[in-house]
Amino acid sequence: MSDPVFFVTGGAGFIGANLVHHLLAVRPNARVVVYDKLTYAGNLDSLEPATKNPRYELVQGDIADRELVRATFERVRPTHVMNLAAESHVDRSIDGPGVFMQTNVMGTFELLQATLGYVRAHETETRGFRFLHVSTDEVFGSLGPTGLFTEESQYQPNSPYSASKAGADHIVRAYHHTYGLPVVTTNCSNNYGPYQFPEKLIPLVTLNALEGKPLPVYGDGANVRDWLWVLDHCAALLVAVERGKPGETYNVGGRSERRNIDVVKTICAVLDELRPKATKYAEQITFVKDRPGHDRRYAIDASKIERELGFRPTMTFEAGIRKTVEWYLENRTWADRVTAGTYRRERLGHGT
Ligand code: NAD
Repeated sequence: MSDPVFFVTGGAGFIGANLVHHLLAVRPNARVVVYDKLTYAGNLDSLEPATKNPRYELVQGDIADRELVRATFERVRPTHVMNLAAESHVDRSIDGPGVFMQTNVMGTFELLQATLGYVRAHETETRGFRFLHVSTDEVFGSLGPTGLFTEESQYQPNSPYSASKAGADHIVRAYHHTYGLPVVTTNCSNNYGPYQFPEKLIPLVTLNALEGKPLPVYGDGANVRDWLWVLDHCAALLVAVERGKPGETYNVGGRSERRNIDVVKTICAVLDELRPKATKYAEQITFVKDRPGHDRRYAIDASKIERELGFRPTMTFEAGIRKTVEWYLENRTWADRVTAGTYRRERLGHGT
């Protein structure tokens, strides 16, 4: 194959933007084409550092627009498709599940159809081609106090979001088994780091804390998530798309299980140090009514990707949280601009 061309759907989102910067930095011969609908979650400000790079290009489009995907493939000739485009916020999926089905299920289907057509039309040039589908550990449902999700865990999605991601995972799998499309799927835990839209826990708490607002914690705060530093995730996605075995799935985790309340307290402690004030930030913590169907615990056994592809997370949770809080302190303008639209950090997902 010639120089790699990475076609990154959802590249203007949180993980996508970090991935674009990572790819441009670590693959100096590669071109990176972002294909993104630019929903509320897609922010061109997050891609600003890439815009002067001649190896970067943005196409605004919907993954469900098969014709536009097909025409873009013909023009840019991708060697790797990395599918990160999705509706991704559980609370929004409770308030309005339809768009989750449309993008995550039907969009993935249309993207696969376009990809299959492209690979079949260019068989010789697309040897080594890979389609990476980026999914979540939430498809496996909820764990009790012990145990870990493995690649063999049963699918038991509990929210419209996780159900739509599970549907997409099954369709991706079927395109390998039925049509021989060289797909790889990753299922990862909660990401955190720069460029995350401030409706998610870590940026929401950081920004509310700075503005003296309540720090909302769902239920008793004892829900446990595994936290993965976003750039560790990007490194995992790159090994998976370059060296993953077609048809295989890989779990990706950060080896950092934390209760939500402890995540919030850690952010408060970092802020007490970096932006001290008369009262402790933890005094702003407010317990709010739990999310309907809130999964209790997610935890990942990532030994397969570690063993087979040599991936290991490098960032500890404490160091990663500090870096993240520092990033939000230094990038208040970014946060103000991305929330200047309709979302104002209000509570979503009451399910009523
Ligand atoms: P995000 O919501 O920040 O970004 C999603 C991006 O997809 C946005 O840029 C949006 O404009 C774009 N998009 C939405 N609908 C589209 C469509 N129909 N066509 C083209 N583009 C569209 O999401 P994220 O947090 O960066 O997550 C990326 C992927 O990783 C998602 O598939 C998500 O399910 C998965 N994931 C995320 C996490 C996490 O902690 N953030 C964890 C596990 C898995």
